[in-house]
Amino acid sequence: MSEALKENVPQKAEKAAKPQKLVGVKGMNDILPPDSARWEWLEGQVRTLMARYAYRNVRLPIVEPTALFVRGLGEVTDIVEKEMYSFEDRLNGEQLTLRPEGTAGLVRSVVEHNLLYEGGKRLYYMGPMFRHERPQRGRYRQFHQIGAEVLGFGGPEVDAELILLANDLWKVLGLKDVRLELNSLGQPAERQAHRAALIAHLEKHSDVLDEEAKRRLHSNPLRILDTKNPDMQSVVEAAPRLLDFLGESSLAHFNAVKAILDANGVAYSINPRLVRGMDYYNLTVFEFITTSLGSQGTICGGGRYDYLIEQIGGKSSPAVGWALGVERVLELIKEQGEALPDLTPDVYAIIPETAALPVAMQLLQALRACGVSAQMHAGSGEGMGSFKSQFKKADSSGARFALIFGADELAQGLVAVKSLRDGAGVQRTESLDTVVTWAHSLQSTL
Ligand code: ATP
Ligand code: MG
Repeated sequence: MSEALKENVPQKAEKAAKPQKLVGVKGMNDILPPDSARWEWLEGQVRTLMARYAYRNVRLPIVEPTALFVRGLGEVTDIVEKEMYSFEDRLNGEQLTLRPEGTAGLVRSVVEHNLLYEGGKRLYYMGPMFRHERPQRGRYRQFHQIGAEVLGFGGPEVDAELILLANDLWKVLGLKDVRLELNSLGQPAERQAHRAALIAHLEKHSDVLDEEAKRRLHSNPLRILDTKNPDMQSVVEAAPRLLDFLGESSLAHFNAVKAILDANGVAYSINPRLVRGMDYYNLTVFEFITTSLGSQGTICGGGRYDYLIEQIGGKSSPAVGWALGVERVLELIKEQGEALPDLTPDVYAIIPETAALPVAMQLLQALRACGVSAQMHAGSGEGMGSFKSQFKKADSSGARFALIFGADELAQGLVAVKSLRDGAGVQRTESLDTVVTWAHSLQSTL
């Protein structure tokens, strides 16, 4: 054995070092109870609403080929330039990336499986996304999006339908204080004309442009419009507006979306500087924004991406979609003081002797089968613990009733039922044969 290896072998007399505590990756959060109940509740609301709009769920891989995002999102975007978790597969050298967003993968899948063969599709997804950003409130390195995408339809009615869907979601989630901003990015030729005018304008003011803006001046000048640099605000405000470069058909599309929103009482404001972070957008773009979350106030963003499918190798097809940030939506719900869903069990089973476990657990199974949520006391491995400690646990569980499986009662085919909340302390016995009926009758009040 080499000297170096010998050094790593613990000497017999030495006590083995305690393994070091491992912690999670910065910006990647554990979602634990009771918070996870909010997540489940939100996901349930989303599923119900999506079904009501006839959108179908897709579940896609978290890892995709890096080229998909480089080609799909655009090389000169924040995500591709600096935020992707990319790595080489050690076994076969493939270049892979943890998905930073959901649209590119969804389009890849739709093309790969020829899903548009029999006509348009309305789809949605939920899941984690990964971006190497500076972690702060509302901005994480692993975060979650819910996205809705409509592929194969070019009309403004689906843009409007998606906005109505998101707007309905805020209603079912009880969100207040969310506003909608709308813009149109036109078509590539219109953008080309605007781009030339924009570059000319920005070049005239090159003295106030920051490094990033200078770098993007010729590669992605549109993105300069949504700079947060206060020193550049007056220049970008005076910049030529893309809306003024739209032709008749782009304007008609934009006006049709607005007319449907107007008819449905959805308020919005036009923000000519709304450009969105990915290159793939055209025509309608929109964001839902709240002022209650500080600077991370955009909870949902989306738009039309009629050229992405072709860019990813599919047959040219129009598409439109949005994605919302689950953490930000939940943060807003919390901010508004919404109560957590009730996680307390209906009954807590106190089991003084291990001998009672088979009967008790059989009964608990019957209760659960009829919809009662039942938490069983679990012992240390050396018996069930004292009655007093079990009772304490029952109390702190928040259960409405304790079921006490005492040996004397069980011998007579009975179980004691003790109220823990309303009329706390009231105790009576139920026959083992009727306790399920009793619990069932309680269901309406539990
Ligand atoms: P931002 O301007 O806040 O960085 P974005 O334009 O990069 O947002 P999109 O790519 O449009 O965001 O993603 C849609 C939504 O996903 C955002 O509106 C936001 O709610 C959420 N989101 C984006 N990045 C993060 C992140 N790092 N952490 C948490 N949520 C995020
Ligand atoms: Mg971003």
